[in-house]
This record gives sequence, C-alpha cells and structure tokens, in this order.
Amino acid sequence: MKQFDYIRAGANSDVTGTPDATIIAGGTNLLDLMKLEVMTPDRLVDISRLDLKQITPTRDGGLRIGALVTNSDLAADMTVRSDYAALSAALLAGASRQLRNKATTGGNLLQRTRCYYFYDTDQPCNKRDPGSGCGAMEGANRLHAILGVTDKCIASHPSDMAVAMQMLGAEVEIESTDGVTRTVPLSDFYLIPTDPAVETVLQPGELITAVILPAPAEGRQTYRKVRDRASYAFAMVSVAARIKVTDGKITQAAIACGGIGSMPWRDPAVEDALIGQEPAREVFGKAADVLVAEAAPKEGNAFKVPLARRTLIATLKELTGVQQ
Ligand code: SF4
Repeated sequence: MKQFDYIRAGANSDVTGTPDATIIAGGTNLLDLMKLEVMTPDRLVDISRLDLKQITPTRDGGLRIGALVTNSDLAADMTVRSDYAALSAALLAGASRQLRNKATTGGNLLQRTRCYYFYDTDQPCNKRDPGSGCGAMEGANRLHAILGVTDKCIASHPSDMAVAMQMLGAEVEIESTDGVTRTVPLSDFYLIPTDPAVETVLQPGELITAVILPAPAEGRQTYRKVRDRASYAFAMVSVAARIKVTDGKITQAAIACGGIGSMPWRDPAVEDALIGQEPAREVFGKAADVLVAEAAPKEGNAFKVPLARRTLIATLKELTGVQQ
C-alpha cells in the first residue's frame, strides 16, 4: 500500500478546508481499494469522530439521518422500521452484519462499483484510469448495468440502501468549502458515466453531513432483492417500491431499482404507467415494459432484462395482493 498522511478531523471544517484529501469513515470499501492500489490517496481525513451520528425528526415530519449513522443503527431505528420499512429491509439485505456495523450512511452512498475490471489494475478501466478503455464492455459483464450506461462505462451501482432512499425521495445534505450547506435530491446526486471517474455532484472538499427523508408516505412498501446467493451478495436486480391503492385504483406509486442501473434507478414513467390503473398483472407487465424500454444489455447481463421485469411484477403483486 502506498504511504499516505492521516488526519483525524475534529470539526467539519477540517474536511471542507482540505479539498485535496480523501475522506474515510467506516472504510469498508475504501480500505480494500487502497490495498489493491485502485485508490492511492496522498492524504486521508478520518471523519469518524465528527458529530454526525444522530437520527432526528425534521420539522415537516421527516427524518434527518447523520452521515455517520451506521447501516446497523439505521436499520434498527424504530422510526425507520415502522415508517420507512423498505429502507430497513434494504439495509439488512446488504453486506454482512460486521460490515453493516462499520459502514456509514454517507459512505454507503459513495461506495464504488464492484466491476471486476475496476479492481484489477492490470485491466483497462475508464473509471480508474480515464481513457484506458473498458474491460467489461466485451468482457465479463454479468454484474453490470443495463440502464444509464454509456460507451465508456457500464458499471452498476452496488448500494441497496441508496435504492430504497431513491424510492423514498431522499435528499443529500452537503456542507461546502465555504461552510454553506446545500441539499441535493438523491435523484440528482448521481451522474450518468459520460466521465466515469466523476460519479456524483460532490465537489472537492465537500462533505455529506446527512440524508433527509421526507415525511412518511401512505401505502405499502417493500424491498425485494434477487442475488446469486442468499446473503452477502450484491443485487442482480432489486426493487424498492411503495404503492397506495384507493377505491380499487393505484393512487400513488414510487419505484426504484438496483443492480440494473449506473445509479439507483428511478424512472417516473414506470410510476406513471401504474397511477390511475386498477392493480392487475397486465398493468404491472406494461409498467415493467416501460422500465426496460431503454435497456442496453450486453451478452453477459442480457438476463437482467427479463429478470428486472419479473422482479418488478412480483413486487407489485406482493404489495397489491394481486394473485395471478
Ligand atoms: Fe471500468 Fe466502468 Fe468499464 Fe467497469 S464498466 S471496466 S468500472 S469503465
């Protein structure tokens, strides 16, 4: 591992005043990347002792989740379990108990793709080494994305938590170098990989301080994850969904998917295909068609197109009680 300077931040300004530093919190992804020399920072700022560990109600009935709240604590929080059940389920579907005890809310949002070529410094990868090419394009691409891809990168976003937060309409609270705080909807936080090395709207020196959830919405919600084995595996396809049915019609729908997009994937057209309709297998099939209409699969991940359709349909049936 390359030598680096280590700074323990005592205040947010220690981070925002050090724009050339790499932030470490739980380190569950970054340390692996440093050992493999995929990331070789000169300077690490450890934010693990900053005062960002609270989960507090917001004035409008939502929830403010500090960036250093661990995935375990967030999943176990009683308000999250009762009012944001899809988020709790998504967290518990991710990683192992040991990792969840260390991994933080902010770090989970910023974890890097698990594309094999990104982790192998002998392989071309536009994300790790811009301009070097993409080994996955014609290589092993079973894990990769079918939506939101470019001719430069087809990596999928690995987070379960972020998929549920995307469905819930979360916002990311960010403190800038000048001490000013801004909030960015999670739907605008991630970038399509036209420049694969730039994954989010975060600027150098900026610090995620919290994630804000809106007030709980009505309806039933769930998180369904399809993966190669029952635990400690990334999603091939996942669906976070909330559906409200009133007088026999779907009046509210919120849907986000994991495993298939370059970012936690939410397409309003899928929700539009459901709202106003009576819950039925045919209606869900049409919404699933909308979900994959722009899919650009490769040979190794073409199975994700029918799998995404089936997973979405199964999730909608579960939430609405449709049997066939
Ligand atoms: Fe790199 Fe993206 Fe290609 Fe993977 S898919 S090798 S992360 S450029």
